[in-house]
Amino acid sequence: MNLLQLSNAQARPFPGPDVQQIYQRLLPQIEKIPAFDHHAHPGFADDPDVDAMASAPDTSLPARARADNPELITAAKALFAYPYDDLSPEHAKWLVDKKSELKKQYPGPAYFNMILDKINTESSVANRAMMADYLDPKRFPWVFFADSFMWPFNNERERARNPDEAVYIPLQGKMLQRWMQQEKVGKLPARFSDYLEFIVRVFDDNRKKGAIAMKFEVAYFRPTTFSDPTREQAEDIYQHYSSGDSVPSEKDYRTFQDYIFRFLINLGGRLRFPVHIHTAAGIGNYFNFTESNVMNLESVLRDPRYLSTTFVLIHGGFPLEREAIWLASMKNVYLDSSLGELIQYPSAFKDTLKMWLETFPEKITFGTDCFPYNQVLGAEESYWLGAESSRMALAAALAEMVSENEVSEPRALELAHAYLHDTAVKLYPVAR
Ligand SMILES: [Zn+2]
Repeated sequence: MNLLQLSNAQARPFPGPDVQQIYQRLLPQIEKIPAFDHHAHPGFADDPDVDAMASAPDTSLPARARADNPELITAAKALFAYPYDDLSPEHAKWLVDKKSELKKQYPGPAYFNMILDKINTESSVANRAMMADYLDPKRFPWVFFADSFMWPFNNERERARNPDEAVYIPLQGKMLQRWMQQEKVGKLPARFSDYLEFIVRVFDDNRKKGAIAMKFEVAYFRPTTFSDPTREQAEDIYQHYSSGDSVPSEKDYRTFQDYIFRFLINLGGRLRFPVHIHTAAGIGNYFNFTESNVMNLESVLRDPRYLSTTFVLIHGGFPLEREAIWLASMKNVYLDSSLGELIQYPSAFKDTLKMWLETFPEKITFGTDCFPYNQVLGAEESYWLGAESSRMALAAALAEMVSENEVSEPRALELAHAYLHDTAVKLYPVAR
């Protein structure tokens, strides 16, 4: 090793004047990497199955996530050659008409496949209540919601907690009903063991339908601290409340849910079926960040009983992403960056990615959290904005790291492949 190499190997605290050039070199190569989108909600705005919950009333969205973000117009220009610079009603109509014309040209699953092609996404998770016949299962692997198994009783008290829960909790009841219909179960089984068996049947059937993971958005509905009750405790509570005649006390309901949550993540370990968990500040005005932040999950994530369960922390714990990356020191814990790239601008998201790439680079994955905003601005525009923002921020983070002598340029590209595609894909060997 000569002196020059030695001095090159010493990291420095500022990027050099070459950082822009490195960025310009990396970006086109990063744009060429076909991506695996680890978390997204593809679908049309009028499709109620895009999510298992709905937007809470009067929700306060951060600036960049609002439907008036002008970057969404840029997205419409890039995807559909939208010829205007505003979204006045008559211009918006142009966009709606253009999309319906394309839907005829690309019938059924061809439409969203065409969108993925345009943003160089090889395949994208469809985290949806149920799959849609207009999504190609080969390119949109399904991730279903597992929360509803935790709300089988009389939910009167749960609904009444605040206006957000008044929207969310009835939808959990509805979701549970749909799983019961799927399994031809008319009412809740009388015996707890039969209830658990029903859950396993839903999992088996969903896997047969192509599901690759289960998702929890439990942080929206209750605190994410989980006690460790015995099966007997859960069974007693089930016997008491499964008829729906009486309303469980909050303590009883939580104890039951804690048991079911642990049952489900155990099942995920046994079936080699990864567990996705929403871990970020959420929509709605009553999302309780103190009770539901990512670090509350630490006792579960660091429990050796769950070592065979793969956990993906969706949204990377934002805005606690600096703390959350240390949870990825567990071999079975991964962080997904979706949402961060849509609610932060690339300048801030670049710093998140850089810090993650400098800590556990082999444990982080790309996702957009795309969502249909409304009839005009759909999942299409949000896919585009999420993918573009992520690729730009990734190139910028890596350019700084190269310029600061932290990694070589070839290594930077390896890290880009891992983040955009390889790390996530390896978590689903059966599906591929
Ligand atoms: Zn999401």
